[in-house]
Amino acid sequence: MSCDDGYVDDPGAPQKPEVPEHVQDAIRTLIEWSGDDPTREGLIDTPKRVGRAWLEYCQGYQEDPAIHLSRVFEEVGGYDEIVLLKDIPFQSHCEHHMAPITGKAAIAYLPKNKVVGISKLARVLHGFARRLQIQERLTAEVASCIWDNLEPHGVAVVIEAQHGCMTGRGVRTPGVNMVTSRLCGCFLDDQRSRKEVLSLMGYG
Ligand SMILES: [Zn+2]
Repeated sequence: MSCDDGYVDDPGAPQKPEVPEHVQDAIRTLIEWSGDDPTREGLIDTPKRVGRAWLEYCQGYQEDPAIHLSRVFEEVGGYDEIVLLKDIPFQSHCEHHMAPITGKAAIAYLPKNKVVGISKLARVLHGFARRLQIQERLTAEVASCIWDNLEPHGVAVVIEAQHGCMTGRGVRTPGVNMVTSRLCGCFLDDQRSRKEVLSLMGYG
């Protein structure tokens, strides 16, 4: 069995990025350190694959997530209710172990006079998630990006995730979700708004 690294032998497909020799060497060192032989057949191309995979996991470094909020609609037609996107799946990597963080996010805002296409909220999330992260900072970065760029009445971000560094090593506790939240504006200051948004998200 072999696994797909997302690149196919089709001239129209994206070119595989070159993985410099020193990066491959680093991965060989890690394989050796883990107890295996980087020269055995199954591992020969692994350093290249891992190098490319990490470029993808950390694609967020190539972008400023705020760019997704630059195209706003200012005519909200008197809409003054909460906009909520929930159960957005994402993957990130923890900066302490470079282990996967897998989870879902709920992102809500109460617009003042700017709204964005709903998929843009997910793009902002992925822009910050595709970096080395801690869940607390990821949650805060998504919230402030929306807060600063849409200038809404309120922003609420709740992230629930499992950490590979907890499920696969250390205390080895699968099935434990870590929940973080960041509330701004009316969702922070006004108890009724906070209750409303959290219950819409399913945390009421
Ligand atoms: Zn970790």
